[in-house]
Parts: sequence; C-alpha cells; structure tokens
Amino acid sequence: MLLATDLDGTFLAGDPEDRLSLYQTIAAHPEIRLAYVTGRSLEAVLPLLADPTLPQPDYIIADVGASLVHGDSLQPIQPLQSAVDALWPGENQVSGAIEGFALERQDVPQARRCSYYCSPEEATNPALLQAVEALGCDLLYSAERYLDLLPKGVNKGSSLKALAEWLELDDDQVLTAGDTLNDLSMLDGQFKGVCVGSSEVALLQSTRQHSRVFHAERSGCGGILEAFAHFGFLGEHGIAAEKRQAAQPGKAELVMVYHRLPYEEFRGADGKLQRRRPTSPNGIIPTLLSFFGDGRPGSWVAWAVHEEGDEPFDSHTTVDAERYPKLTAARVKLSKEEVDIFYKRFSKEAFWPTLHTFWERATFNEDDWQVFCKVNRAFAERTALEAAEGAIVWLHDYNLWMVPAYLRELRPDLRIAFFHHTYFPSADVFNVLPWRRQIVGSLLQCDYVGFHIPRQVENFVDVARGVFPLQTAGRQNCAPRFITYGCAVGLERMTTALDTGSRRVKLGAHPVGLDLERVRSALEAPKIREMMGRLREELRGVKLILSVERLDYTKGILEKLNAYERLLDENPELLGKVTLVTVCVPAAKEMTIYDELQTQIEQAVGRINGRFARIGWTPLQFFFRSLPFEEVSAWYAMADVMWITPLRDGLNLVAKEFVAAQGLLGGSGVLVLSEFAGAAAELKGAMLTNPHDPADLAQTCYLALNLPKAEAQARLRELFDIVSYYDIRRWGEEFLAGVALEEPVEAGVTLEIAS
Ligand code: UDP
Repeated sequence: MLLATDLDGTFLAGDPEDRLSLYQTIAAHPEIRLAYVTGRSLEAVLPLLADPTLPQPDYIIADVGASLVHGDSLQPIQPLQSAVDALWPGENQVSGAIEGFALERQDVPQARRCSYYCSPEEATNPALLQAVEALGCDLLYSAERYLDLLPKGVNKGSSLKALAEWLELDDDQVLTAGDTLNDLSMLDGQFKGVCVGSSEVALLQSTRQHSRVFHAERSGCGGILEAFAHFGFLGEHGIAAEKRQAAQPGKAELVMVYHRLPYEEFRGADGKLQRRRPTSPNGIIPTLLSFFGDGRPGSWVAWAVHEEGDEPFDSHTTVDAERYPKLTAARVKLSKEEVDIFYKRFSKEAFWPTLHTFWERATFNEDDWQVFCKVNRAFAERTALEAAEGAIVWLHDYNLWMVPAYLRELRPDLRIAFFHHTYFPSADVFNVLPWRRQIVGSLLQCDYVGFHIPRQVENFVDVARGVFPLQTAGRQNCAPRFITYGCAVGLERMTTALDTGSRRVKLGAHPVGLDLERVRSALEAPKIREMMGRLREELRGVKLILSVERLDYTKGILEKLNAYERLLDENPELLGKVTLVTVCVPAAKEMTIYDELQTQIEQAVGRINGRFARIGWTPLQFFFRSLPFEEVSAWYAMADVMWITPLRDGLNLVAKEFVAAQGLLGGSGVLVLSEFAGAAAELKGAMLTNPHDPADLAQTCYLALNLPKAEAQARLRELFDIVSYYDIRRWGEEFLAGVALEEPVEAGVTLEIAS
C-alpha cells in the first residue's frame, strides 16, 4: 500500500503514543510505501528527513503538488516533474504580473508556486482572478489567509494521482490522510482516505458524501491508525500484533556509555584475558566511577574485542565489587576490525580533522560510516537493556554520535545526556561532513548536551540551526566564569536551551577539570623529587621553556619551533640563557597521516640546533616519546615558561597540569597559552598568544621570559585558584546537576524566552 499523508496537522500531529505507534508500524511493515504530501516546500521538509524518530518517505510531493521527488535521492520523479515544470510560467513572471494587488509574499521557501497572505475580499477580486487566468495559473485559497498561485491543474491530488499511476497502483492500495481544505484534492473519493480528528470543518463538509473517506475521531497519527483498522489495511490485528516492543527496562539508574571499560583488559602470557587499572590521562575514569560510589545501581557500557576462537564472551562483569557493589560493566562485543574502523581509523580520519577545523585533511568513506552506525546501534541496544525506567544515560564523545538516535527510539523514557570531549566547530566547517544531518538529528534526541566552553556550545547551535528550525529557549551570560571578548574562543552570551518543537534540549559549558591529588602524589614521589633536584642543577643559569603535547597537526608544534627560531634570531641576548624542551608523544604506527609532520619537525629541530648550538648549550631538546605522567609533572614544576600553542584544541589538559604542579609547589612559572585552546576561555591569568601569527608567538614568549616575578606569581595564583576549584569532581557534579535540572535557570542569570 501507499500511505499518502499531509504533514502538519496530520502525520506530525496527534497524541505522542499514537505517533510512536504509527511510526513503528510503518517501520515494521516494509510493504507500506510512504509519501509525504505537503504544502511545505522541499527545503522545509529536509529537517524532517534528519529526524531519526520519523519514518523516511519513499516519495515527497511538496509545494502543494508542484514538486515531486524521490525520498532517498531527493531527485525529481521524472517524467512527472517535467510535466508540472512545463505548466509553470516562472517565479518572477508570476510575482511581477500580480505586483499591484494587495498581497503580501510569504517569506517561506517555495518552488514552482508563489505563496501570499491575502484577505478574503482580495482573494475574490475579479481583477486578480483575471490576472491569474492570464498567467495560466490556478489559485488556491485556504484558511481565509493563504493564497497559492500554482501551475494550472496542479494540486496535491493531481500529483498524487500521477504518482499512483506511475507506480501502477490500484486506487484501493492508496490511503490518503489530511486535515485541511488544502488536502481536499486527494480526499475526493478516488482513493481511500481519512480526515483525521480535529480536521477543518469545511473539509469534513466537503467529504461527507464520499463513502471511501473516513472521518476519524483521534487527531493526527491516531486518526491514521483508526483508518488502517477501518479499511483493514495490515489485516485485522495488524497494528497491535506488529507494534514493536520497546526494550524492557533494566536496573541501572545511571548508565555511563564510554568507549573504554573502566578497567583495562589485556591478554597475559598465558593468553587469558586479564585486567589492570586504566591509564586515563586526566583521572576521568575514576571520577566517572565515583558517581557509583553511593551504591546506586549502575552500568558502564563499553566495547570489548571478541574474535572467533576466543573464550565464551561475558556480556557482564563486575567492576569493583567492594567499592561499587551495584555497578556492572556491560560489554559490547566488537571484532577487532570493527574497533579499528569505528575508533581508530574512521573517527580519526573523518571526524577528528573536521572537528578541529582541519577539514581539508578529512577523508570520508560511506562503508566506514555504515560500520560506525552499526557499532553505535550495538551500544544503543546494550544501553537500552541496562537502563532502568527514567534513568540517566551519560554518553561520551563523538565516537558515540549516533547512539541517541537509536536509543531514543528504543527507550523514549530515558534522560539522555552527551558530553563532547573535543572541539566543536562552526557550521562552515562542520557542514563538510557528509552525514551532518543524521549526526545533528541524533544529538537533538538528547535532553542535555555538554561541551567544554560556551564557544563550542554556540558552534553546535549554529550547526543545528542549519539542519532544523529551532527556537532559543534559554540564554545566559558567559562571564564571570568564562572570558568574553578577551580570546579567540571567548563569547559574551551562550544558548542554554533549544526547543525543537517536540523536545527541549539543554546545553551546557563544562570544561573538564583535573584530579589535583594525582599531580600532588606525582610530585611527592621520592623518585620525582630526586629528578627535580637533578634538573634544577642541570638548568642552573638557563631559563626553561617547556612544551608538552601529542604529535598532531592541531597542536601547532612546527609553528612553535619556527617561532623559537625567530625568538633566538631577534634576541641574541637569549643565546645560552634559555632552552626549549619539547615532549612530543608520537602517534600510533598505523597513523601514517602524521609521518610528514614528524619529518618536518625533525628537520626544524635539526636546523635550529645546527644554527644556534654552542659547546655546553643546546637551544632545543626534543623528546619524541611518551613520558610517564610523574616525569612530565617534574618538568612542569621546573619550567619558567610553559609554551602551549595549539592551532585548535578542545580544552588542553597540559595547561591545567602545569598550573597544578606550579601551584602546589608555590612556583612562579608563566603559562603562555594559545587563544585557540578551549582552556584559554577559562584560564584567566594565562598570557594568551595567537599561534597563527609568528610574530605574536615569538613576542609573547619573550614577554613571558621577562615577566617581573611578582606579576608571574600573581598570575599563577589566579590560575591555581581556578584549576583547584574547578577540579574533575566538580566538573562531573556540575554536568550531572545540569542534566537533572528541569529548567535552565541559574541564580543570577537572566533567562530570555524567545518568541
Ligand atoms: N602526557 C603524558 N606523557 C607525555 C606527554 C603527555 O602522560 O609524555 C599526558 C599529559 O599529562 C596530559 C595528556 O597527555 O594529561 C594530554 O592531554 P591534552 O588534553 O593536553 O591533549 P590531548 O592529547 O587530549 O589532545
């Protein structure tokens, strides 16, 4: 059968339960073909195609019948479209010819028709009717307000009839549904039809005589379901029997969905699976675990690699029976190949560069996207089985972008929260992603979406507005917590809630914090104290500039090395008096995209040392390896200037770790931080620099080296206050408080409700 349905007031309306039931019935019956038949223009239908809760149409008849396209490719249905095109005089031809009449053009998308607001008197003005006739157009007036000029003989009914004929359908196989006079042409008795509950009285009157048109009681989707039963489409018990079972709730009141398990699995010498504590850089895993410390029933959903021939797969394991007695780890079974594609290759090659605004480096592969979606679906299905009724589900990072879409369908009751751990770019960059609509459609199924800083929140809003019509439901000032006009990623006001029409999505800025104790215990270790003593000796009389980062094009390493060369070149008094130590963590071997950068860096290091080194003084020491966190902390404590210059960074934890190490030891090191790192919006007291400007990079480093000690100490105190107050624990608590809050209103914050 073909269900040909009007959208607003019909397919998009009705009781939420009826809507879900109809949409699931359609999804469960592939033999139902679906046509949207709408007064909207195709452009205004596109947001619906990105909504994962709606069944996708096979055909779209838009512009009150004037546009006919295939639902998947959005290409015109030929030759039907050409037949309509031939009847249309052209937009400017039409609008020009009726310029003198009292009509106001509607400011909504429209194609092959011109839409106006018009009074009932003007709609019957003989001169207007004559002008329309002369153009060879039809006039359609509805709701005593809307006037459409259409190609002659074209309306919803005529285009639907052309489609049914083209598909060689019997009239009995078509069910039409509508609620206003606009739909009359497809409810004229040729097809089976339904006027849903609360239809326009004039429509009901005009269709009363048609035996094949059913007047339903329930509005919207409920009316269509009634019609299914009335006409016996899907058999007697079709709907009830086929209604998809929503997943049965589990027991967890909080479900953490993280790509990694809260413990590390590895194979021992005997080939058996063993566990060890996770090596998480910022102590995020212990923090997330701590939310299960109060004995609340919980679940941690993560992947586990399982290959053929491995021991039987455990879908559930305990995490720590003593500390978290009611927490289980729910493992999502993935093959090694799936992990490689989903996590290592595709995410890194397609999403990482785009998110960090290096979109030219991104490569997109449709097959890999399919694997990504399959893995995300597996995460959603596992989560749906774990979560108790109304539970909070906390999803982490872009690897799990599509989980909300699948999860919402399975469990409409859940409170879904998502935290982005990376940068989030504006629409100009994000829209490069071939799957942007699906991703945004999925994220808008969340109740709460968190980012590090307001700029990233607003960039998301920018992206989402390009996909959906959204109302702003809350805004707040970013100060005093965040920098406003003072840095490249600063912002004065941010959106705190969006209204999608069917749900409210709250947004929050929560920069990830540090576990201060981890830094403290690193600095207190005897081995590290010894190391610091040794370094202090070695660095006597030389100021240490420190740089710590992963090898990545986002980190601006080459730009920094070039700036260092410039610094030495322009300030000969620094020769022999400063040294730059760079700790650069190499990328995994298979990440060949970093090979070229590594070669360029090695060349720059060689050139600078070759040019400036003297006996007894090396201007630049480059460690191309990962150091244990304790050793990195010792370097932090010794640095006079911490020089962090990413071209783009979600946050940058190194900056905070430096502040923590210096603060704990009462130091006076100076933080020079790129104004493009997320942390720049938060870390008042840092000297900000623009890594895209070579002169500024060199000059700010020079100023930092020569900063009066009192100023350096004051800046550090300010920084340490921020880093120690907004620690990782507070980050998690504030995020969860934001998720739990019903309305996005905070003390001292003005809330604007957009009209
Ligand atoms: N790090 C480390 N050993 C090293 C260099 C870095 O353990 O040799 C750690 C560093 O302490 C920090 C993390 O790696 O916690 C880097 O985090 P950041 O947010 O700065 O950058 P990301 O790598 O997430 O882009």
